[in-house]
Amino acid sequence: MSTVGITLYNNGVIHMKVAVFSTKSYDREFLEAGNRLYNHELVFFEPPLNRETCLLALGFEGVCVFVNDILDSEVLKAIKEGGTKLVALRCAGFNNIDLVSAAKLGITVVRVPSYSPQAVAEHTLALILSLIRKTHRAYSRVRDGNFSLEGLLGYNMNGKTAGIIGTGKIGTAFARIVQGLGCKILAYDPYPAKECEALGVNYTSLDNLFGESDIISLHCPLTPDTRHLIDTNAIKKMKPGVVLINTSRGAVIDTKAVIQALKSGKIGYLGLDVYEEEEDLFFEDLSNEVIQDDMFARLLTFPNVLITGHQAFFTHEALEAIADTTLSNIKDFEEGRECVNQITADRIIG
Ligand code: NAD
Repeated sequence: MSTVGITLYNNGVIHMKVAVFSTKSYDREFLEAGNRLYNHELVFFEPPLNRETCLLALGFEGVCVFVNDILDSEVLKAIKEGGTKLVALRCAGFNNIDLVSAAKLGITVVRVPSYSPQAVAEHTLALILSLIRKTHRAYSRVRDGNFSLEGLLGYNMNGKTAGIIGTGKIGTAFARIVQGLGCKILAYDPYPAKECEALGVNYTSLDNLFGESDIISLHCPLTPDTRHLIDTNAIKKMKPGVVLINTSRGAVIDTKAVIQALKSGKIGYLGLDVYEEEEDLFFEDLSNEVIQDDMFARLLTFPNVLITGHQAFFTHEALEAIADTTLSNIKDFEEGRECVNQITADRIIG
């Protein structure tokens, strides 16, 4: 027997049929390994879910998506008509889904609120240390037989002031790391974390954080409030030569403003794991193509800019946790249980 999106297996258990979008080899590997415990029917699609591809979801009760799938009201309407009742995000951020439309359509949305905050926090440190000790440049220099130290002068993190914007799970993990390095820590978050306060983090206003920090690291979600939080006005308030790191979401930074500040020298170093227009670039091998995004191409020309392609989360531990939580979220929905990782427009659990 089979109904829309539901398949009855010969062991008599009803499993949910889930279309997995934006599938890479590693998604498949970890989801299939984790699924031995859950036995969902997973069908893998390489393209992202968006207006062009939403027909692929036809007949699937669940869809599983990642950071660059675009679930606007049109896509949600289309998948709902095709029988979809559940969107399982295999990420923490949910800026790419219209939660109000999902609620109106009666589509349940679940996510993975925490898989490995340490993975992102440690990558943030990797970006900072590479930039300020110039290891990204030393790497190619030494391979070319050039052992000159000219231009490689760095500085210590010890004693510097780190400003953390957003002290949730990742911001707190990052605070622990930089505390270990002997940094003074300032933070801004509308909801200060007790754990950070206990670490000795000083919560302050955004303006004060901008003015006092040698290193500013973004760990807030992308919301209407945080879109272009780092704009020309914010950069004006920062210390000359500031290190700016974004592992959160691209649009928290106004890229045009940041490019101007790199040109003037106001920003000393920029580390990015995310980019405003990353949907057209990241997670694909474009090494044989001409990059059409002029802003991104300009960023690549600066010696003091280090960009990784949304890989901060990408550790073995994180992928295992993402797969397990996603599959467990789907099971909760399938069995009619309230899922602790469900999100709605007005309620974020987990
Ligand atoms: P979290 O929900 O635990 O923490 C987010 C924190 O930001 C909360 O404490 C919240 O109060 C705070 N916040 C909300 N609005 C704010 C504002 N206007 N200004 C300052 N702080 C604000 O989330 P998390 O797990 O720590 O993740 C943070 C973000 O990191 C995610 O939203 C996601 O966008 C990004 N992320 C990136 C990667 C990656 O691979 N690069 C991986 C996971 C998450």
